[in-house]
Amino acid sequence: MVKVGVPRALSYYRYFPMWKTMLEGMGAQVVVSEPTGRVLLEEGVRHCLDDICVPVKLFFGHALSLKDKADAIFVSRVVSVEKGDSDTYTCPKLIGLPDMVKGSLDGLPPMLEFVMDVQNRSLKASVKSLAATLGVPPSSAKNAFESSLEVQARYESELLRGLAPGAAMSKVLPDGNGSRGSEEARDTSFHRDPLSIALVGHDYLVHDSFISHDLPSRLNKLGAKAVLMSEVPDSVIEKETARYPEISWSYEKELLGAASHFLGRPDIDGVMMVIGFACGPDSIIAEIIAREVRRPESPPLTTLVLDEHTGQAGVATRVEAFVELIRRSRNKR
Ligand code: SF4
Repeated sequence: MVKVGVPRALSYYRYFPMWKTMLEGMGAQVVVSEPTGRVLLEEGVRHCLDDICVPVKLFFGHALSLKDKADAIFVSRVVSVEKGDSDTYTCPKLIGLPDMVKGSLDGLPPMLEFVMDVQNRSLKASVKSLAATLGVPPSSAKNAFESSLEVQARYESELLRGLAPGAAMSKVLPDGNGSRGSEEARDTSFHRDPLSIALVGHDYLVHDSFISHDLPSRLNKLGAKAVLMSEVPDSVIEKETARYPEISWSYEKELLGAASHFLGRPDIDGVMMVIGFACGPDSIIAEIIAREVRRPESPPLTTLVLDEHTGQAGVATRVEAFVELIRRSRNKR
């Protein structure tokens, strides 16, 4: 049985239930890299150009950590995820990820590239070419694809219910394989005056406990419930983004729509943008949110920038100060 390594980074947080079900349905054994740690991050940083965002550096580290554990490494090329009249794409790093891996990392097992480009190519066609590479007959590939869509739909409904990716994966996959940490961040019952703080940021930043320094749990310990943007339905995102100039990056549109939604919700006490240093799309969208989306009556908004140099003390100070500011302004009302 071929062992396929899946790096626990980038699109893993969004699509792993689909990928795992599909690969296993094609007879592969799936091996996921361990959650991020210091050594893995340093390896990723060492093999990446300085001015690349930290999520890509993490991807490199995760891919390298699978070097001797898998016969092939699964790398997605996520080009477009929205079918529609307008041209929308993901970010250039997600589009060029297989090329960056090929160009920068030596000695990896062969790459299994999986293309997601719904504007130009059906997912079925991508599954067929993956099956052909694995030597799987079309009938098995078809069954694997159908099951994978069903598991992915269940995963997405768990996210909509407010579960973090790790907890949602544990619900829909027989042996879990989710990331640890964020799902523990939901109980604020011990606190007399719990706050609700919305986290607006890519799930590969917010839910990588190492790089976000356990952000959701940290808020929880301070008596604040972390409200995740994955619980905002697509229909709400669409409605919110229609109020602003068109954005061509699909995932940034989600950030904009979620921020606009949370900044107008009376039960949200504060909004924290979580962005990656050296991320062009994030820095533009964070500016638009701060200048154009935030209204005078909106709850407080802050931005937390994460990179490989961000220390735990820095995150702790920012988060504590934000929670304290919200609590004080609440007491004055
Ligand atoms: S959106 Fe930003 S953080 Fe995410 S992969 Fe692209 S450049 Fe990196």
